[in-house]
Amino acid sequence: MGRFLRVLAMALGLGTGLLSSASAAEIVTLRWFGHAFFLVTSAQGVRVALDPFTDIGYPMPEVAADVVTVSHEHGDHNGADGLAGAPEILRGLKAGGADWNSISYRMKDVRIVALPAYHDDVQGRRLGLNSIFIVEAGGLRLAHLSDIGHTLSEATLTAMGRIDVLLIPVGGKFSIDGRQAKEIMTRLSPRITIPIHYKTPVTADWPIEDESEFLAGLNNVRRLDTLTVSLTPGTLPTEPEVWVMRYR
Ligand SMILES: [Zn+2]
Repeated sequence: MGRFLRVLAMALGLGTGLLSSASAAEIVTLRWFGHAFFLVTSAQGVRVALDPFTDIGYPMPEVAADVVTVSHEHGDHNGADGLAGAPEILRGLKAGGADWNSISYRMKDVRIVALPAYHDDVQGRRLGLNSIFIVEAGGLRLAHLSDIGHTLSEATLTAMGRIDVLLIPVGGKFSIDGRQAKEIMTRLSPRITIPIHYKTPVTADWPIEDESEFLAGLNNVRRLDTLTVSLTPGTLPTEPEVWVMRYR
């Protein structure tokens, strides 16, 4: 079996026995700092930073974390050293980037697994490997697709299972574009989809697109006016929504 399938199968086997004790009162907060960088904080206070950037132009936030995920080793995703709190670093890729790490991690009420993916649509031959991180907290399952460059195979969709909150790149060029992102969103049908990795005033000179292709034709888009959102299973939108977050 190829390495991709073995890593996937491991994650699948670990996909049972998830946190079943979560109650609706357990609030998870989510903050976006721009690009692919998020901070998830669980009800028990576990702070999970996802794909922190190095200095790519966004305001550099003062973020303290207990654990940080790095989907792949590009500077707009692997700024783990810039975080306070001496977090445990979960790297999706092995040193050299030619293979994935098998990750199944737990801290208090948070569980994190990684699934193998690619940065392009030619099995990584152009832009290398990528990882999908799934964070489970408070009965919610969040998936961070980082710089994924392809639509998802049936095996990957099965391994991902139910996804409540999908963080998905829409900028194209280095990742899937808005059209492909919509395809994945339709397949996964999360309650909340949050576009990431698109052109903003900060990345105005990057050869990526803004969020408009992704948002075109969607009638369930909410532009949030707060920086941090609170999530619980009981307060998820009943119909799928797309949330455009603010980074400042
Ligand atoms: Zn990137």
